[in-house]
This record gives sequence, C-alpha cells and structure tokens, in this order.
Amino acid sequence: MNQFYFTPGPSQLYFTAEEHIKSALKENVPAISHRGKQFQSIFQDTTQAIRDLFSLSERYHVFFTSSATEIWERSIQNLVEFESCHFVNGAFSKRYASIAENLGRKTTVIQAREGEVVNIESLLIPESCELIAMTMNETSTGASHAIDDIRKVREGFPNQLLSLDVVSCAPCLDIDYSLVDLAYLSVQKCFGLPAGLGVWIVNDRCLNKSEALLNKGLSIGSYHALPELLIKAQKNQTPETPNVLGIYLLGKVAQDMLKKGVDMIRRETNYKAAALYNTFENSEILNPFVKYKVNRSKTTVVAETSIPNQVIIDKMSEKGLILGSGYGKFKDQHIRIANFPTHSKEQIEYLSDELMKIAGE
Ligand SMILES: *Cc1c(COP(=O)(O)O)cnc(C)c1O
Repeated sequence: MNQFYFTPGPSQLYFTAEEHIKSALKENVPAISHRGKQFQSIFQDTTQAIRDLFSLSERYHVFFTSSATEIWERSIQNLVEFESCHFVNGAFSKRYASIAENLGRKTTVIQAREGEVVNIESLLIPESCELIAMTMNETSTGASHAIDDIRKVREGFPNQLLSLDVVSCAPCLDIDYSLVDLAYLSVQKCFGLPAGLGVWIVNDRCLNKSEALLNKGLSIGSYHALPELLIKAQKNQTPETPNVLGIYLLGKVAQDMLKKGVDMIRRETNYKAAALYNTFENSEILNPFVKYKVNRSKTTVVAETSIPNQVIIDKMSEKGLILGSGYGKFKDQHIRIANFPTHSKEQIEYLSDELMKIAGE
C-alpha cells in the first residue's frame, strides 16, 4: 500500500522531489566538484530562488549549514558575546536556549505555558541582551506566534538582533523578513526534502557583529563563522564540501514553489489548516491542543486525544496515512499532523474524513 507521511519532519517529499532526484543523478550532481563552475551555478540558482521566495533585500545573505540545530550553535558563537534572550514556547525553542547555556552565555528565558506562546505585550527584556530568539512555529506543541508579534518585538527592541526560527513554517506564512536580522530553516519540513541541509539568512548587522567579536579576539567558530561563509558565498561556494545534492534539490523545489505562486501555497495552507481544526472541533476524540485560535499553527496541527493516541495512529496507518505522535512529554497524548505544501487539499480532506470515522465508533 502507498504510504503518505503527515509527520511534521521528516515528512512526505515534495511532489516534484523524485523527478528532481532523478535529474540530479542523470546530471551526476553528487559527483561534481564543489569548487567547479557547475556547483557555482547551482549555488547561485538556489540562493536566488530562496531570495525570491522570501522577498529578501540586498542587505540579506543566504548561507548553508548541515541543519537548523547547527544554526542555533553558530548564531550564538557569532552573534552573542555575553547574553541572549529566548522565548520558550516548547521543546525546540528550549533547545536553542540550552545550546546558548552550553556555550557559556548568560540566557534570559521567557517561558510560555504549554500550547501557548510568549505574550508579546508585557515583555521585559534586559537591555544587555544582544540577541532575542523567537520561534515562529513551535513544532512540538503546534503553538505559533501571530505574524504581528514579529513587528511588535522589532519595534520594542530595536537594538537587539532579532532571530526568527521559521523551520516548520517557511514559506507557508507571509513573513516580512526585513523585520528580523536572522532567520533559518531545515529543508525536511515545509520544503519536503531529505534532511541534512540548513538555510541561514542573515543581514549585515549580523556580519558586523561577528566581525566585531572576532576583532576583540573572541572565538566565533571556524569554517562556519559568518565571515568565512560570506567570503565563500561571494564566490558561490561553501567553506566545506557541502550537501551538493540537497542544495540542488532545494533550488529546484523553491523554483517550483515560485512557479506555483507562494500566495497560492499560503492560501492552500490556510484552507487545509481550517479543515483540520474543523475536524478536531467536530470530533469526539480529538481536541485542538492550542486553545487560542490566533496561536494555532497552520503547518503543524496538533490535537489532544481522549483515547490512546496509538489507536488513532494505527488506524490511520492502516489507510496508509502516517501521522506524528506527540512530542516529548506529550508523546502518548497528542497527534501531530503536518500541513506542508506537498500535502494536497484532497489528501487533507481524505485524512479528515478518516479521522471522523474513528470518532464515530
Ligand atoms: C525541526 C526543527 C528544528 C531542528 O531542525 P534540525 O534539522 O533537526 O536541526 C528547529 N526548530 C524547529 C521549530 C523545528 O521544527
């Protein structure tokens, strides 16, 4: 039976990924030199497609890493001398804070209740914080910031570097990236690609900060320090031998998304999310975990279950529909459903119907 993955990362591959993987093999992409012209042209195409998809101005640079987790570490090394501030809405945002602590930085943690996000209205952040870390979409609980929260934080704290985790929501949300100094993602979520590639978007403020730390004689890491990444990116290269296949595939899928139209992708995301939450509201055994509607994730939709979640996961799996379980301490209490661009309206409707059938039993 065909299986279809609604797990929130890795997830079902983007529907054009297979065709691009085949072309990549035919073109010998995994064998080419990362110092040659062919790679430079792949690098150029992929970064340009990301710039277009995210509407990035010239002040922004696009770099590649191995994952979003790596970007947590690199961003602290490059951008924080003493102190960072983290909005912790769940397990992923918490991990960023703990990496900063591991690196010996002082961290201010602003903790939201489970299934909620940090309230932006009454924030107190010490002026000494150099970087504010926001996680747009907390994949562990399905709690998402309202788009307007970014602008509010930017206006309230113009002196800090603002870091935005868009790992499990870009490019499905209409985010104005000119409001943030750095943003990052991994390709196995909304882009529907094999894991092992992170995309790090930074502006000149970030580059200046990392240069300043370097000039003070501090360590900002080595091959993936921002000045190193920049020198190589200016030649359409990377410091190390990168995930060439991943960079190629990302460029192709980003171009496909541009052709389809990012507005269309966002409209479909909204429609499918509404269908899923509607199913939860009408189901006897499911309830949206995130209580405040404005904070319900459009891309990682999470329900509490009133029967053991494994029963639901198993029944769906019999239909070839692979759902995510809860994350961390909610492992047995939630189901998580990815609503990424590759998940079509028809598949979401089919999944909703099947979930309602269990509810009726
Ligand atoms: C998946 C995820 C990450 C980590 O991505 P990796 O590719 O495992 O490094 C970080 N933040 C959020 C919100 C995520 O969903």
